[in-house]
Amino acid sequence: MSLETRTDDGWATTRFVVLGFGTAGYACADSLIQAGAEHLVVLDDRDNEALREKAVILETLGATITLGPGSTAELPKDVDVVVTSPGVPPHAPLLAQAAERDVPIWSEIELAWRLRDPANAAPWLCLTGTNGKTTTVQMLTAMLRAAGLRTVAAGNVGLPLLEAVMDPEPYDVIAVELSSQQLHYTYSMSAHSAAVLNVASDHVDWHGSLDAYAKAKGRIYENCQIACVYNVADKATEQLVMDADVIEGCRAIGFTLGTPGLSMVGIVDDLLVDRAFIEQRATSALELAMISDVTPAAPHNIANALAAAALARAFGVPATAVRDGLRGFRPDKHRIAQVAEVAGVNYVDDSKATNPHAAQASLLAYEHVVWIAGGQAKGATFDELVIAARERLRAVVLMGQDKQVIAEALERHAPDVPRIVVEATDTGAMQIVVGEAAKLAQVGDTVLLAPGCASWDMFANYGARGDAFTEAVRALGN
Ligand code: ADP
Repeated sequence: MSLETRTDDGWATTRFVVLGFGTAGYACADSLIQAGAEHLVVLDDRDNEALREKAVILETLGATITLGPGSTAELPKDVDVVVTSPGVPPHAPLLAQAAERDVPIWSEIELAWRLRDPANAAPWLCLTGTNGKTTTVQMLTAMLRAAGLRTVAAGNVGLPLLEAVMDPEPYDVIAVELSSQQLHYTYSMSAHSAAVLNVASDHVDWHGSLDAYAKAKGRIYENCQIACVYNVADKATEQLVMDADVIEGCRAIGFTLGTPGLSMVGIVDDLLVDRAFIEQRATSALELAMISDVTPAAPHNIANALAAAALARAFGVPATAVRDGLRGFRPDKHRIAQVAEVAGVNYVDDSKATNPHAAQASLLAYEHVVWIAGGQAKGATFDELVIAARERLRAVVLMGQDKQVIAEALERHAPDVPRIVVEATDTGAMQIVVGEAAKLAQVGDTVLLAPGCASWDMFANYGARGDAFTEAVRALGN
């Protein structure tokens, strides 16, 4: 079976099992059919109206779809390749059986790489990280567009990568956001350039250990062609570059909030500068943009802008396009979004801060903070965050399932910081939380919703949590 590119002739004869029939699984099955696959089985333990409707479409094209409890318990006998979905952990029975029987397991990313049009394959600029992926990939897309390139953000955000790859109208370049789960089963990809923004504890349940999680992220650098971009402030990312097997001549490029050394992008005075992609880099740096071109100009977001700039510059984007891309860019909702100023207090919605590393980054962007936190901690600890942020904490309001975990960290490292625990978990809970925060805030302070936890114990998702916060702040204003 030769399946290195879309035009190889093995696609028709290879027996595929697609595991999972969500967005990714559907895109995989659909693309396999387009590639000419004739032996395709799709399995999912779920069964509902929407899935059945999608199943009918693929069945008419020749695929076999099995839905409902138990469907993924056994790996079929006759299978050459399993294409898996990011939600399925490696210890799931079917993947464990595939590993035992030496059946190759591919992510949708592996499949997308092999399905690129060999005559017209767009280069991939890839990035991953525990936090900041979506914001950075969107900044990168804005810079590429400002340079007049036809591009799209795809992968873990926006368009499924397979759709971008199968698009009949070719892109000049694709900005690819990848999660650790997608990278885990990716082998052949050879990014033009790749970045790991940061590595902090998250998704350890899926990967089994923090080390396995970091290693999965590091796969983004394998076979990289032009630039491996790492975070100077996060040694783990630099180590991943050192551990990677790259194409000869590929360079390691750092991004830093400090003065850049050779082969880095960084900050000089109030400017973002490039000391990596200019000929005179030994002695000088090129201005890319002003810090004020980045919105919001919180330190972690400036770091995101620098990472995006490094990838864009590696691809040859001019400095003016980096600047123009940044000027026009605003992050998605619920990412350090300014909600309102009420009675001299600033209210900020960073509901997307769903782990302590993200919450810590946003806390460090403000001088005096009333911090709203809590939800599902997913096994994370808050000690490091509290130690880093305690000088800034005016007070803390806690809510949700794992509020005790945060309360204990506060008791250990910041016992003098006032804290209020809100027991309510119903739809009115956020109003109580915001009311308590307002009482504790002083003029000039920021009330920051940066829960450091997932939202599912109290809300449908982080968006609903942020909306509830916004509504409560507006009610306060009235
Ligand atoms: P992701 O796609 O990785 O979840 P987002 O861009 O959606 O990242 O940002 C999620 C949250 O992570 C933000 O709301 C913010 O709290 C935090 N964040 C963003 N960039 C960084 C960064 N570089 N370092 C740490 N935290 C960050």
